[in-house]
Amino acid sequence: MAVQHYSGSCQCGAIAFEVDADLDQINACNCSRCRRLGWVLTFVPESAVKIIKDGPTTEYLFNSENISHRFCPTCGIEPYAKGEQGDNMIYAINVNCLDGVDSRALSPNLVDGASK
Ligand SMILES: [Zn+2]
Repeated sequence: MAVQHYSGSCQCGAIAFEVDADLDQINACNCSRCRRLGWVLTFVPESAVKIIKDGPTTEYLFNSENISHRFCPTCGIEPYAKGEQGDNMIYAINVNCLDGVDSRALSPNLVDGASK
């Protein structure tokens, strides 16, 4: 695969976005949050994300509070999180929220977030 264009949303559609992402570069993490959500994520720069509908969203912070987890207060789905990395804003996109993508057919890198 290479970088492709995807549309994504929360379940009810209050949050919607478009993203250019390479789904060869995806992660499944076992940290206290990812494990519970079961989400598969890919990191992209802010320039690769176009927010179409921005919610309302509820923000959740934990650990170092560097990552803003945004979830829909209506349907409870978290389509993305974002955080600063140096001078840049990085998005963690929930691959399970992308239209036409079955993350079970992909091969995520297993990230041991639980040990960090
Ligand atoms: Zn929603």
